[in-house]
Amino acid sequence: MKRAALIVAAGRGERAGGHIPKQYSRLLGRPILRWSIEALQRAGVEDIVVAIAPEHAEIFAAAVEDLSVRSVIGGATRTASVRAGLAALADADIVLIHDAARPGLTPAIVVALTEALSAGAAGAAPGLPVADSLRRVDEAQRVVADVERDQLMRVQTPQAFRAEALRAAYAAIADDASFSDDLAVVRAHGGACVIVPGDARLMKLTYPEDFALLERIMGGERIVCVGNGVDAHRFGDGDHVTLCGVAIPHHKGLVGHSDADAGWHALVDAILGALGEGDIGAHFPPSDPQWKGADSERFLRHAVQLADAAGARILHVDVTLLCERPKIGPHRDRMRQRTAEVLGLPIERVSVKATTTERMGFIGREEGLAAQATATLDRPL
Ligand code: MG
Repeated sequence: MKRAALIVAAGRGERAGGHIPKQYSRLLGRPILRWSIEALQRAGVEDIVVAIAPEHAEIFAAAVEDLSVRSVIGGATRTASVRAGLAALADADIVLIHDAARPGLTPAIVVALTEALSAGAAGAAPGLPVADSLRRVDEAQRVVADVERDQLMRVQTPQAFRAEALRAAYAAIADDASFSDDLAVVRAHGGACVIVPGDARLMKLTYPEDFALLERIMGGERIVCVGNGVDAHRFGDGDHVTLCGVAIPHHKGLVGHSDADAGWHALVDAILGALGEGDIGAHFPPSDPQWKGADSERFLRHAVQLADAAGARILHVDVTLLCERPKIGPHRDRMRQRTAEVLGLPIERVSVKATTTERMGFIGREEGLAAQATATLDRPL
């Protein structure tokens, strides 16, 4: 199922003050809009379109410089902007619609939304329970009714939809129709929608003071943790080995339940170590047939998602491959590149290097190879 996302960023954001529209101002040093784009990309969303105001084209380009995203010009109303975005996302199966003013998005939310759609819903949105008691008042602020809050939820974005349900719902409404959100549009067209657990970090930035509050929620007190991981695999029959996501032709293969990528296995263990999340075998038991021959990219993405869910950031990783042959040097840059892609890190923060063991031991006898890795993470205290 192809997942695509539309970020609605066409608003002028006057209420937040400042000369820069709020979706382009900075939170913890990064443009607000980037936070959502990067979270969607880490969650594996394949296509991202941002609906922008025409006069923001330049500031948009500067904010997203190195990111792979497209923009469309939004319309005069939110409905018109969503329509323009949908037209640009022609071949998606699932569409997430997100407000640019909610930068605290985590890949875990995207996973939960996708799962809700897989379970049969036409639409899904994150929501939080209401903590305060609720009253209905009249124009003079007189209390006229108590409102039961147990079944009420504060609904956030991104909201995720089966693309055909979303398109049909938007085709049925006028450009100036007024709906509180996309969930309301799809529900008005008969689509069944569900709420998944939301996240306080997904709060909407509306007023200037919201920025400091969200920075505290997202920043808070943090510590740097260093995890390490070690893995080894035996050589067997085959014509290539896979190391750090790169297939290298060789006269032997590596034996293992998955693709036996010792480099990425050690790295997964290093990330899990920094998170205190056990080891790779606990998350992907070798006894489980579904991991037979599995691409280790899945394991690494899982570790990245766990880090995100914990509010942690991977700062730097260092992988050392220990083997006599094949020679790693010619493939090192590609390994760094692949690892950086999956981790969502700039390549300067990913190190891959190799050594031999001077022909000593099982590695020296070319019975197998090994890897060790270090991952440095910054995480909430
Ligand atoms: Mg292994």
